[in-house]
Amino acid sequence: MKLRALGPTDTKIPAVGQGTMGIGGYFTRDDSSDAEFIRLLKLGFDLGLRLIDTAEGYGGGHSEEIVGKAVHGIREKVFIATKCSSEHSAYDLVIRSAEASLRRLKTDWIDLYQTHWPDPRVPIEETMRAMEELVEAGKIRYIGLSNCSVAEARRAQDCLSHVPLVALQHEYSVFERTVETQLLPWCSEHQVTLLAYSPLSRGKILDGQRKNLLDVLGRKYDLSGAQLFLNWLLENPSVVVIPKASNELHLRENAAVLDRTIDPADHRKISELFQPRIVSIPTDEIEVLEENGRQIYKTLQEAIENRFNIVPGPLDLSEQVASGEILKPIKVRVNSLPFKKPPYQLVEGRVRYWAWVIAYKGGVPIPAIVENPEE
Ligand code: NAP
Repeated sequence: MKLRALGPTDTKIPAVGQGTMGIGGYFTRDDSSDAEFIRLLKLGFDLGLRLIDTAEGYGGGHSEEIVGKAVHGIREKVFIATKCSSEHSAYDLVIRSAEASLRRLKTDWIDLYQTHWPDPRVPIEETMRAMEELVEAGKIRYIGLSNCSVAEARRAQDCLSHVPLVALQHEYSVFERTVETQLLPWCSEHQVTLLAYSPLSRGKILDGQRKNLLDVLGRKYDLSGAQLFLNWLLENPSVVVIPKASNELHLRENAAVLDRTIDPADHRKISELFQPRIVSIPTDEIEVLEENGRQIYKTLQEAIENRFNIVPGPLDLSEQVASGEILKPIKVRVNSLPFKKPPYQLVEGRVRYWAWVIAYKGGVPIPAIVENPEE
């Protein structure tokens, strides 16, 4: 079974874990399927997926409660990673969040405690000081960051005086490869594990030539498209994937990846054919729509006022954008409505879109991945 060292430590974790976003609800609590989720998480543990990623923000904390029930009786055998929400980055809020997570998880320790998103208003040194104290108190074992830039990771690493930064969690899939330019090389160089989130691009559907390649390779290896994608990501030894499955067949497929590999030549074919097409699009050619029912700023003024109190908000993030740091391109789709005006619709990246508009006063096209490019 593929096991990977966690950062520079002696701790080994499975190369495939279980994500939990949506398990117990997305943004608010949903306890309608608890029994089934607990059954699936336990089955995942039996199949070797003994790394679980959750967050205080998932399902308003209910995801952690479900994880707590699933690990009951086998706590020592499961590696639990959870996250502190960005609006809780100040010293005392980090401590309070960790304690609340421990209560919901019904455990005495968290294996990996991660910041969910950096909060530009709170110095990372302050957040790391709280995290280090949690390590000293035995409440968390290891420290990680999510959705950070290389500069932020470096700063966090520099201010940790006696524990290492072991993991960065970022979006990474065959369709979203921004980490390959800076973050992944940095992780490899500094012995930091990259936890690849949304490794299946949230279950994206494929068509055309790309699907043909997956069919051919699928027959050759007896692997599904999702299994090929996960294998592709695991080629780099610094990477660990955390797909979410709420369907037993998917879960079994993901677990089977622990025992399979694909040839380097086929790895290269997937790399080439699935190369994401990043284009620069004038910001006024993109219609800003609701994102999975989440509140969204419809105008520049709403974004500047941050009336939904998102952390980091568009104005906070615009400073980072203006300094030349961009975490990843936004995702858009070609407008299929009659008259196609504006030509694109925003799929993902509502805060990043407005941060870009603010940073460049609407005058510079924004890097975007077009999810349904017109052939
Ligand atoms: P994902 O794992 O890329 O995709 C999940 C989707 O893929 C679900 O619709 C799932 O369907 C489907 N799926 C799973 N296994 C499959 C298989 N073998 N074949 C076909 N479809 C399959 O997306 P994600 O949930 O966004 O990311 C995974 C985890 O990363 C999250 O759950 C969360 O723990 C973490 N995450 C972290 C952040 C962050 O900001 N740090 C952001 C996003 C995600 P079913 O559910 O029907 O099985």
